[in-house]
Amino acid sequence: MASETKKPQLFRLSLKQLIEKRRVKPAFPERASPDPERRLRHAKSRAHEVPTKEFENHSRSVRTSSPTGDKVTYLRQNYTNDESELACQMCEEEMPFRRRDGEYYFEAVQLFDDLAGEHEAANLALCPLCAAKFKEFIKRDERRRKELRVQVASTNELQIGLDLGKETGNIRFVEKHLLDIQGILAGEEEQKQKQKQENRESASS
Ligand SMILES: [Zn+2]
Repeated sequence: MASETKKPQLFRLSLKQLIEKRRVKPAFPERASPDPERRLRHAKSRAHEVPTKEFENHSRSVRTSSPTGDKVTYLRQNYTNDESELACQMCEEEMPFRRRDGEYYFEAVQLFDDLAGEHEAANLALCPLCAAKFKEFIKRDERRRKELRVQVASTNELQIGLDLGKETGNIRFVEKHLLDIQGILAGEEEQKQKQKQENRESASS
């Protein structure tokens, strides 16, 4: 029949080929820092300069301050590869669709909710599905949340394993982003220690 010969290109691929086609992940971007120590120092010193989070005193706290810089732009710049594809930090796939304005749709998910300051780097670029998994299995679970913080603060690897209930996953970072976050964590820790010291001194005087 004539209709048989006019099958569109897509249908000529076998199911197996289609599956393999989907499995090829886009190249994950590389943002290596030319001077990692300097970047870390800079991020740490900047950690003190960002505005602290302010909350209005509603029954449910609503944050009224907004992050310095633009987390969406920051993440987009860091996770767009040479092919102009924006990669998800968990599944490493290209973000699934574009917005009406042509930019990729993605979720900028706060990595740690309890940081004192507003930091554009303290967010992840995730596709909607991974964002949902991260919120459900990591952010709502105190133990996993704490583990992740320790791992992020101390890792030398650009990839961190995640316990997602019945499955495991990863968060992958570009080097510049990881250094920025590690600087923020170190800076906040330093600030906390300083505060404690001051409290002790004022209590004993
Ligand atoms: Zn994803």
